[in-house]
Amino acid sequence: MNVVVCVKQIPDPAAPQSLDAENRLNRSGKLILDEADSYGVEVALRLVEAAGEGEVSLVSMGEATDVTGIRSALAMGAQRATVVADPLLKGADALTTAKVLAAVISRETPDLILAATESSDGYTGTLPVQLAQLLDLPALTFATSVVVEGDTVVVHRQTEAGYDEVAATLPAVVTVTAGVVEPRYATFKGIMAAKSRPVTVVSVADLGLDPRTLDPRQDIVAVETATTKSAGEKYVDDGEGAQRILAFLEQIKIVSGSAT
Ligand SMILES: Cc1cc2nc3c(=O)[nH]c(=O)nc-3n(C[C@H](O)[C@H](O)[C@H](O)COP(=O)(O)OP(=O)(O)OC[C@H]3O[C@@H](n4cnc5c(N)ncnc54)[C@H](O)[C@@H]3O)c2cc1C
Repeated sequence: MNVVVCVKQIPDPAAPQSLDAENRLNRSGKLILDEADSYGVEVALRLVEAAGEGEVSLVSMGEATDVTGIRSALAMGAQRATVVADPLLKGADALTTAKVLAAVISRETPDLILAATESSDGYTGTLPVQLAQLLDLPALTFATSVVVEGDTVVVHRQTEAGYDEVAATLPAVVTVTAGVVEPRYATFKGIMAAKSRPVTVVSVADLGLDPRTLDPRQDIVAVETATTKSAGEKYVDDGEGAQRILAFLEQIKIVSGSAT
């Protein structure tokens, strides 16, 4: 069974962030594996292990100046990676990214394509379903468990009340939620093996894509600092605390005056 996992490399959230001249996140430093995607990698590895054959490969679009994040996923056990890096893609929106990833994936014949429900930095949560549409595949989203039975993938789709069981015939695109499994730590052997696993960097031209079909890009017009929340008001309960709380709740329309 062959599983492709979409993985996004992101600037380390623990490090100070800055914006470039076009108001985009500065991605020139170290790029780590988005934690959201570590779950997809783990699910893929477990499915291939359960099948007893096949491979896990990775696809990514973004800067390839640093592939620390890709190497982390390879160290977990993925076999190889393809990274699409091209200055033409700067400012690409989610749909453009989906078109590019679809072009990579359609060069292969995976049984399953996994992605996270949403990335940790862009978090539009739209890319995987766009990818499914472009590849003309079913999309099963918000999976908290993924099982493959023959040529069918069965997922538990998270709902507010619990989960729905949803199934589709392979191949399919599945998005997994954070916490779906405990991603494995890379072993020393895995880290050493990852150094020699292929990371193929390709351009838009390599994929045979017409750059004109990759518009529109997104432009960030302005960035403003979010207003900080002001500190709450403190009351010392002088015996009328309950009434004051009620009056406050009425003021912000949580309860109506008739509740009194
Ligand atoms: C030069 C360059 C600069 C970029 N700069 C930025 C930037 O500043 N901010 C930004 O958010 N994005 C940037 N990107 C990446 C790209 O534009 C976004 O990945 C895309 O817009 C998807 O947005 P999202 O993260 O909201 O997707 P979501 O729909 O939230 O992502 C859901 C899941 O889809 C998969 N996925 C998403 N993006 C990718 C990807 N690129 N590669 C592989 N899998 C992916 C992951 O599994 C992810 O968890 C850049 C790309 C390039 C080439």
